[in-house]
Amino acid sequence: MTIRRADLSDPVRFVKGVGPSRERQLANLGVFTAEDLLFLFPRRYEDRRTLTPLSSLRPGTATTVIARVVAVEKRTTAKKQLSLTTVLISDGQGMAKAVWFNRVGLENTFRSGLRVALFGRVELRNGVPQLVAPEFEVLEEDDGEEELLSIVPLYPATAGLHQKTLRRIVRTALEEYLPLLEEFLPVSLRERRRLCELTEAMREIHYPTSRENWKTARRRLVFDEFFLLQAGLALRRNRAEKPLERAPSLVRGHFVEEYMNRFLPFVLTEGQRSAVEDILSDMERTAPMNRLLQGDVGSGKTVVALIALLAALDGECQGALLAPTEILARQHFLRLSPVFTALGIPCALLTGSLGVKEKKEVYAGLESGEIAVVIGTHALFSEGVSFARLGLAIVDEQHRFGVLQKHTFRAKGSAPHVLVMTATPIPRTLTLTVYGDLSVSVISGMPPGRKGVKTSAVSPKKLPAVLRFLKERFHLGERAYWICPLIEESDSDLAAATARFEDLSAEFGAYGVGLLHGRLPLAEKERAMEDFRSGVTRLLVSTTVVEVGVDVPEATVMVVEDAVRFGLSQLHQLRGRIGRGNAEGFCILVCTPSTPESRQRIEAFCSSDDGFAIAEADLRLRGPGEVCGVRQSGVTDFRIADLLKDQEILRLARAEAFALVGEDPELRNTPLLADRVFHVLGRSLNLVETA
Ligand code: ADP
Ligand code: MG
Repeated sequence: MTIRRADLSDPVRFVKGVGPSRERQLANLGVFTAEDLLFLFPRRYEDRRTLTPLSSLRPGTATTVIARVVAVEKRTTAKKQLSLTTVLISDGQGMAKAVWFNRVGLENTFRSGLRVALFGRVELRNGVPQLVAPEFEVLEEDDGEEELLSIVPLYPATAGLHQKTLRRIVRTALEEYLPLLEEFLPVSLRERRRLCELTEAMREIHYPTSRENWKTARRRLVFDEFFLLQAGLALRRNRAEKPLERAPSLVRGHFVEEYMNRFLPFVLTEGQRSAVEDILSDMERTAPMNRLLQGDVGSGKTVVALIALLAALDGECQGALLAPTEILARQHFLRLSPVFTALGIPCALLTGSLGVKEKKEVYAGLESGEIAVVIGTHALFSEGVSFARLGLAIVDEQHRFGVLQKHTFRAKGSAPHVLVMTATPIPRTLTLTVYGDLSVSVISGMPPGRKGVKTSAVSPKKLPAVLRFLKERFHLGERAYWICPLIEESDSDLAAATARFEDLSAEFGAYGVGLLHGRLPLAEKERAMEDFRSGVTRLLVSTTVVEVGVDVPEATVMVVEDAVRFGLSQLHQLRGRIGRGNAEGFCILVCTPSTPESRQRIEAFCSSDDGFAIAEADLRLRGPGEVCGVRQSGVTDFRIADLLKDQEILRLARAEAFALVGEDPELRNTPLLADRVFHVLGRSLNLVETA
């Protein structure tokens, strides 16, 4: 007979007490291996440390009692649908009942005189206290009370699997497999950060001995979760940088200087200046830049992007600016190409809707290097696109592309610098996790002279007043957006937008009304935008197409219908379309919040114009995956860590992880840690193990 050696990767069915049906139930909890069982952390605990005498049971509380069985009774209701097992118990001073429903054969477990421990909720029935469906243990005469009186874990529930069973399975796994889990944190790190030992933390998290000890254990395990992710991100960043060093290049040359001195139409804000500084210093290094530029809607990211592009040109490289939608790409082109032209820089627009011949011309120009700057959509990633010497690629409104997506530009020679920009203010905690391998610049503060936006919520009954208000603003020469209730561009929603457009045209025809939605042919979309920009139309009825980046300074009113259906960050994006010039903006949410929660959300939104605070609120309400579109990636599915509550530990873990990888880029001195990182994150971070 060969003796099998236990291994953490053993399937759960190797654990004593787990058969095929339990195996299926455990799979529902995401538990497939013995190790998964160890890391199935309790969601809550039940404190069974204080024993209550039967004479002082209090209804409505969960209680632990130890008593003797006095009598057992089994009854079936008239229609035999429900069986009821009742046990009468006594502890010498008081009496109580315990009842269970539909537990076949349970009556045979108890007989009079037996000593039992019960844990459950107390109810009062006909003046008699009773424990409803309590958990129980039959005690031997010499069983001490000590062991029973503990803090007991409550694991995530799944149909058919009793807590008691699950507890026994996890307990068995802890005995058999926990000794195989090796400490992977270096001792020096644990001592410096006062982190307890791993197996100790694991034991304590399942069976806490005190609140203090539990806290210590949790801190260690939260640290681990963050630390492993950060170490993985640090490794990924190292590898991205290493093989593709670039020649250092000039970045503060003729073009940047000319633009700053002669063309810049305003003074940069402090935030813009420091972002430009971060970017230019990155671009002076030989390693490719990997930077995230965050700035609330309207904070002025475009000009920062422009200066970065000019810096790339000063280094005699090409630059590319990628936008998520055709409208936005065209808007950028419209605004930026005059600057490039004035500086004598050839620049082109590349989008999916160009004709074949035009596309070929752009491809040729990029390949030969004749075109120095290209602004475009996804079309920039097409087969035919290849740059002569791409120096900088900028991705605008990155969140629209999916957070973890890596953009691969086909560039000859060395890797380009990459700058990604986002206006969805991502809470710092999330930045550190999902964008953990990027450097971050934040533009805080707005350009001066903004009058701000007043936000209010009104019920649909008040629509006539809203229309009167719009008329006043039109008289003052201002413009307005009207966002129709649309989440998906389904046909019925489109019909709603079209119908709304007709209503509003009847009302405001004299001021010019335009319609914009995703299904319009491009030429019409463009005309709708252009008419609105030039003032031919004062009111633009639209689906959420305008959410991203559109910039028309004369627009002062934003009406959003059925606003409760939008995420707060999305509403904030919409609101960011107005109040861009120097007139006050008005955001009017038309909605009937039907739950206290939605009312709270709308109120919170009306009273705050801080994009970061709003994003934090969204994060709390909807979870990180929803907010940043990373739900599928698994990177933010922490088992124990809480992004909002554990920010302090996150910062600590990040600093330690990046420092460690900085000193030892492949973690050769800490092989157990390296193994652990690959084991936990290798797949989701696409890390390739190097020999
Ligand atoms: P976003 O960060 O949302 O992309 P934009 O780059 O579109 O913002 O800028 C919003 C508006 O603010 C634009 O009309 C732009 O010309 C203007 N702007 C940007 N920076 C400044 C500044 N430093 N002073 C005054 N206006 C500015
Ligand atoms: Mg923008």
